[in-house]
Amino acid sequence: MAEILDGKKVAKKIREELKKEVIELKEKGIRPKLAVIMVGNDSSSKIYVKNKSLACEEIGIEYEEYLLHETTTMQELLNLIDKLNEDKSINGILLQSPIPKSLDINEAFKRIAPEKDVDGFNPCNVGKLCLGQDTFVSCTPYGIIKLLEEYNIDLEGKDAVVVGRSNIVGKPMMQCLLNKNATVTVCHSKTYKLERVTSKADVLVVAIGRPKFITKDMVKENAIVIDVGINRGEDGKICGDVDYEEVSKVASYITPVPGGIGPMTIAMLMSNIVKAAKSKI
Ligand code: NDP
Repeated sequence: MAEILDGKKVAKKIREELKKEVIELKEKGIRPKLAVIMVGNDSSSKIYVKNKSLACEEIGIEYEEYLLHETTTMQELLNLIDKLNEDKSINGILLQSPIPKSLDINEAFKRIAPEKDVDGFNPCNVGKLCLGQDTFVSCTPYGIIKLLEEYNIDLEGKDAVVVGRSNIVGKPMMQCLLNKNATVTVCHSKTYKLERVTSKADVLVVAIGRPKFITKDMVKENAIVIDVGINRGEDGKICGDVDYEEVSKVASYITPVPGGIGPMTIAMLMSNIVKAAKSKI
């Protein structure tokens, strides 16, 4: 039976450490502050944003929320980003996705000042990640790497497979694994016979948004399985992209959903905000 990679526990430890760092920063007159922009009324986004605000409150990070109407124009969104970029009291800016299809999210991410881009989505920071330079790493892949480090799992020389190639998870994950000297393959919806690739993975990261899609027969014996997916299963319960019950019988390590990568993602967002604030020292 696989050992559980307990993201909830590790994330709590990281938050405790950050709490102390924030106290030290405040003693030096620096007050970390996050500004979150939400456009429209997406119900999942509301839950994610609420969780981020609660984490900020716990750690002592100041928090401001900007709720824009669905009919907001691109110019209005860019104007708000410009205003937050110039505001010296704000260290981090986060644009919650999704935003209405009438708006260009990539243009908006590009406008966020790289030094305040705590989500790591600005092309400048994405480029730095590719070049192996210090930067804000996108929070989910960053959280996955931190979780593996916490369990002393060495990635060097391992065959890693990432399923999903989104800009926010799959692609930065590929780069993070490569930076750790894993040999990386990325799969997507057009991959021919997916199980042919996944069944060779020492480390399998799945981020596709399909409930219990990865089954036991698609996973190598003793693989390390990281489940990023957050879905609602047929029974109405939250589940991942991996069939946890079955896959945990063959994997050596596995992340649960919930309690795996979700809390790590929020912890790394907090870590990025503190990093942004520290750069002011
Ligand atoms: P996207 O919808 O942006 O991307 C999904 C990716 O999965 C695409 O690259 C797509 O391929 C690929 N894909 C879809 N179906 C298949 C398939 N049958 N076989 C192989 N590949 C497939 O999703 P995100 O990356 O934003 O999110 C993925 C999941 O992770 C979601 O459940 C989301 O809720 C969750 N998530 C969880 C986070 C956390 O904190 N735990 C953070 C962010 C996301 P193609 O490119 O060819 O279309």
